[in-house]
Amino acid sequence: MAKKFVADVAVDGRRVFLRNDFNVPLNSAGEITDDTRIRAALPTFRHLLDNGAAIICSSHLGRPKGKAVGELSLAPVARRLGELLKKKVIFCSETIGARAEKAKAKLRPGQVLMLENLRFHPGETANDPVFAAELARGIDLYVDDAFGACHRAHASIDGITRHVPLAVAGFLLRKEIDFLTLAAENPPDDYLVILGGAKVSDKLPLLKHLLTQADAILIGGAMAYTFLKAEGMDVGASRVENECLELCRDLRRQADERGVRFLLPRDHIAAPRIEPNIPVHIVKPGEGIPGEMMGLDIGPETIKAFRAEIGRARLIFWNGPMGVFEVDAFSGGTMEIAAAIAASTATSIVGGGDSLAAVNQAGVADRISHISTGGGAALEFLAGDPLPGIAALTEA
Ligand code: ADP
Ligand code: MG
Repeated sequence: MAKKFVADVAVDGRRVFLRNDFNVPLNSAGEITDDTRIRAALPTFRHLLDNGAAIICSSHLGRPKGKAVGELSLAPVARRLGELLKKKVIFCSETIGARAEKAKAKLRPGQVLMLENLRFHPGETANDPVFAAELARGIDLYVDDAFGACHRAHASIDGITRHVPLAVAGFLLRKEIDFLTLAAENPPDDYLVILGGAKVSDKLPLLKHLLTQADAILIGGAMAYTFLKAEGMDVGASRVENECLELCRDLRRQADERGVRFLLPRDHIAAPRIEPNIPVHIVKPGEGIPGEMMGLDIGPETIKAFRAEIGRARLIFWNGPMGVFEVDAFSGGTMEIAAAIAASTATSIVGGGDSLAAVNQAGVADRISHISTGGGAALEFLAGDPLPGIAALTEA
C-alpha cells in the first residue's frame, strides 16, 4: 500500500495544491502562540520552491463551522510562514471563487499563495464534490502534508484527489507514515506501549488492537482508575468511567492470555482537589485511595517499575500523560516517564496533543525519535484503521 512521495515526482513548472495542517493555537489577540506546525511544514515548501513549483496552500484552523469567522483567518499564518521561509507569501482572503482563481492564475513558479481557511466553507467537512473540484481547478499536483487531518474524509483531504492527475505525500506526512507503519506493521520484539490521559473510552479500541502487538503495556493517568476499580480497588473520588469496567476486565484477561505484561500503577499521588498548592497524599502499594481523594499522578514505586520496562524496550509508543501534568504537584510521574523514554536507546514515538505538550514541558522533545503531529490520526492509524487521507493518495 505504498504511496507516491513528493520527492519522487516531477514538480518543475507544476501548480501544486499543498494541504497543510496549520491548525495552530492563537491567543485572544489573534497571535500564534506555538508555530511548531508551521516550522514542521517547511521541508515540503522548500523542496517544491527549490524545484520550480508554484505553491497554492491552505489549511483548516479552529472550528468556524462553515462560515467566515474573522478570528480564524489564516492571514497571521501566512505572515509567519513568510517570515520562516524568508519569502513573501501572497494571501487571498477567499478559498474558492473569482478572486482565488485570479490569484491562482497569476502565480508563477517559485511563488507561494495561501488561500483562506478551508472550513469557512461547509463543503470542506461535507466532502462536497463541487467544493473539491473548485479547490482542484488549475492544479497539476496535490501534495498532502496534513497528517493531523488524514483521519477525516474532507474535501481538501479526500474529494480533491479525484480531480487532480496525481496526489502524493509531502515530507511531513511521509515521516509520519514511516514511523507509524513501523509500529503498526513491523514492531520488533520488546515493543512497549504506554497509555495514559483522561478518557478511557476513547482509547480502549486502540488498546484492544495494541494488545495483539505489544510485549508490555503500562497504564497511567486517569485511565488507570477505571482499570483499578474494575479489579476491585478503592479508587476514592478518582475519575472513573463506570460503563467501561467490564471491558477493562476483559482486556486485562486478554493480556494475560497472550502473555502481555500489563502494568497498572501500584502507588499514587492523591489530593481532594486539583489545585497548585494543595497538600498531596502518597497512597502506598496495597492501600486504597481515601474516599474524598482523587488519584492524580503515579507514585514513586510505579515510576520505578515503569522505568524498568522502558529500559528493556526496543520500540516505545507513548500516548497520554501519567497524571495532571499541567499542575506541578501532579506532574512528577509524567516528567519522569518522559525523561526515561528520552534516555532509552529504543525507537520512541509519542502521539497526542497533551503528550506532546508534556514532552516539551520535560524539555526532551529532541531526544524522541518521532513526535506525531496528528493526535487523533496517529491513534486511529495505530488502531489499524485505514486513514482516508492516506488511502486517497496515488499508489507508488
Ligand atoms: P493526549 O492529548 O496526549 O491524547 P489526553 O487528552 O487523553 O492526552 O489526556 C490528557 C489529560 O488527562 C490532561 O489534561 C491531564 O490533566 C489529564 N489527566 C491525566 N491523569 C489524570 C488523572 N489522574 N485525573 C484526571 N485527569 C488526568
Ligand atoms: Mg488531549
